[in-house]
Amino acid sequence: MKVSFMKSLQSRIFILFIFLLLCIQMMSFYSTYQAKQNSETVQLNNKIETAKQVFETQLNNRNYYLNAFAETAAKDYGLKNVFTEDRKSFLLALNNHRKRINADLAISIKSDGEITGQLVTYYKNNHKKVKVGSEQGKSFNNFEIFTQTDTTELYYLDAKIYQLSLAPLKSGSRIIGWVGFGYIIDHNLANELAELTGVNISFLLEDPAINNTKEVVSSHSTDEKKYDLKSIQSINAGIDINYISSHFRLGEVNSSNLTALMFQSKVSVLKNIQADWQEFLIIFMFELVLSLFGAYLISAGITRPIKQLIHQIKHIGQGKYDHDVEIDASHELTQLADEFNQMKDAVVAREQLIRHQAYHDSITDLPNRNYLAERLVEYKNKETGFIILQINIRRIKEINDTLGHKVGDKVIIEFSNRLKEFSLEDELFHLGADEFVLISQKLNIENTISQLSVSLDPLFNHESLNLHLQYCIGIAQYPEHQTDDITDLLKKTDIALQYAKKHNRIYQTYDRQFDFNTVERLHLINSLKTAIEQNQLVLHYQPKVSLSSMQISHVEALVRWEHPINGLIPPDSFISIAEQTGQMDALTRWVTKEAVEQYLKWQKLNINIKIAINISAENLKDKSYSDYVIALKEDNNIADYEITLEVTEDAVLSDPQQATEILSYLKSHGFKLSIDDYGTGYSSLAQLKQLPVQELKIDKSFVQQLMQNKDDQIIVRSTIELAHNMGLTVVAEGIEDERTLLWLQKHNCELAQGYFISRPIKADLFQTWLKDCPFTTAKEGKWLKL
Ligand code: C2E
Ligand code: CA
Ligand code: CA
Repeated sequence: MKVSFMKSLQSRIFILFIFLLLCIQMMSFYSTYQAKQNSETVQLNNKIETAKQVFETQLNNRNYYLNAFAETAAKDYGLKNVFTEDRKSFLLALNNHRKRINADLAISIKSDGEITGQLVTYYKNNHKKVKVGSEQGKSFNNFEIFTQTDTTELYYLDAKIYQLSLAPLKSGSRIIGWVGFGYIIDHNLANELAELTGVNISFLLEDPAINNTKEVVSSHSTDEKKYDLKSIQSINAGIDINYISSHFRLGEVNSSNLTALMFQSKVSVLKNIQADWQEFLIIFMFELVLSLFGAYLISAGITRPIKQLIHQIKHIGQGKYDHDVEIDASHELTQLADEFNQMKDAVVAREQLIRHQAYHDSITDLPNRNYLAERLVEYKNKETGFIILQINIRRIKEINDTLGHKVGDKVIIEFSNRLKEFSLEDELFHLGADEFVLISQKLNIENTISQLSVSLDPLFNHESLNLHLQYCIGIAQYPEHQTDDITDLLKKTDIALQYAKKHNRIYQTYDRQFDFNTVERLHLINSLKTAIEQNQLVLHYQPKVSLSSMQISHVEALVRWEHPINGLIPPDSFISIAEQTGQMDALTRWVTKEAVEQYLKWQKLNINIKIAINISAENLKDKSYSDYVIALKEDNNIADYEITLEVTEDAVLSDPQQATEILSYLKSHGFKLSIDDYGTGYSSLAQLKQLPVQELKIDKSFVQQLMQNKDDQIIVRSTIELAHNMGLTVVAEGIEDERTLLWLQKHNCELAQGYFISRPIKADLFQTWLKDCPFTTAKEGKWLKL
């Protein structure tokens, strides 16, 4: 499975790293940016504020200087002496003073206001010269200066503005005039201040009356750009946001305001910061690239061992356990790899165990049904013949129930050990519980069975208790009983086994006749109901000969199913279905009614024959069937003991108390009750004696080979004797030859039934048969007609 890039762990870690890095970077970027912005604002504010302070200090210094100097000059006797004297000498003296402080303006005013001396500087060929000012001899029109405490003023002269400071000349305490010095506000000043403050400076003259602004002087631009008045104005108005500026009033000149505008382009102020910022950005980008690369390396580093793990675990997933997981990585991942290896070993061990358990029985550790299925396919491919024996230990359930499962298991194990010894060359399987399978390539069935019966010692000792193990065997042959699906062979052995069990045989080889496949069975279940309704059932009658009189005194009604498609179906095939699907009541009622009707017909024809009807466990569960058959008997005035009800001991044993009650009920209403198939069950005669029955029917498995089997003779003889002792009459069924019939007659058996006398046949056939049947009287082994 390919993992898409976005889903892979590596890309996730990578993305996480990038995300974190970007967050950190963005945070640092943001804070740096904020710091930069703040620092810019601070820097810009500082710049203009400092510039303004420097500017003001400079102007104040100049004022202070002018003031102090004017006062010093005013106290100078030399100057005072010539004040009123010679104008030329005074001007010389004044100029001398002016030169000492390199003032641009020197002025003296008489107390009457006449300007007695005025010297101004000017430039000629870049040299500073001095000349007499234009107001010399005129009257001073700035008298308001004197009313102010601060005697420094802005003074306008010949379109130039000066900073002027005046000090009174005193003679005693009388003011005889004033002397003053001034510095011009010109380009030089503007440039000087601009250089000191680092910002551009313009001196503006604003006339509020006519809203007019004139530039007086401006510094050379510090950023080499020439500003015209318009751009200065827009800076001043704060329109041009690329500038910082400060604008303030310095004083009044000719009823206009002299202002200073200090300004600077932000860029030039922030040049350093910008340079730092660029540097920061470059470092930031560089860091980012480095971080991305680092993130990639880290994520790849973390996931590489995991990828190794995944790659190797995939191998394990495919069942390739041969390699250990190895990685070169951190402690935790190495530990993980170790854990994986341990897990892998555990998985291998468990897988082997599970595989073993899947293919072996837990009690005997023999290969089981799964293993058998695989082996059968292999045997089939070998294309050699084989026989397959399904061996069943009988009565394990009883042993479990009476002696406990532990003993049951011991018996099974012991039995399997004996089988193992026998089957050294054959293959043995344990299908579970009491079922074993043997595959043998020795094809002679008789030989195999007789050898097996020698090996399988039937005696089993458990704590001084001797158990007599019984078993029976179903056999199928390959290729004789070949099917498309080889495992169907097992079904065939099973069918053979069931047959052997039912007919009390030690072994039985499969015969196609036994086969009644399940699909057909299912069809039968469905159609049995309609069979009863649509009269597809018929009764055959099998006679019983009274051995004392050699007369046909009874018939047993035996049901058959004339199936429209399957033909005649024997009762063994559908009675059990009827029992399992709750249809037994309907079936028995139909048989009973049919048999009684036939009985009545024969009565009318003067054929005096008693009838026997088979009933099953289902009919003994409650009184409903008994009431039915009693009503039928009474309605038709049938005499007592004309009808025999045959019931197997199994039918009684499922609920003996209830069965006894119902049997007594039937007996009290004049029915003869007979225990069918006697000898096949496990109950003793003494137990059966408790039942209200009058007759015992010895099962055909003891009778069929009676002449050949001494054991059977012993059993049958003692059964007859014991039954008689208990007041029961005896019927023997399964008489297939004359000798058996005579033997039974000799041993006082009351009734005989069997193919030798007649097979079960239809009623009309039975009537014809009866006419010329040989069984009327028997003399010296010769049968004579009546
Ligand atoms: P069952 O009651 O023991 O009936 C006797 C069976 O033995 C009959 O088989 C009969 O054909 C067979 N048989 C009689 N003489 C000989 C003989 O000399 N040799 C051999 N090999 N067999 C002989 P069938 O008719 O196939 O019946 C089989 C079983 O089906 C019956 O055994 C009985 O258990 C059951 N069954 C038949 N009809 C009914 C019925 O109407 N109701 C019930 N509940 N069961 C029935
Ligand atoms: Ca019967
Ligand atoms: Ca029977």
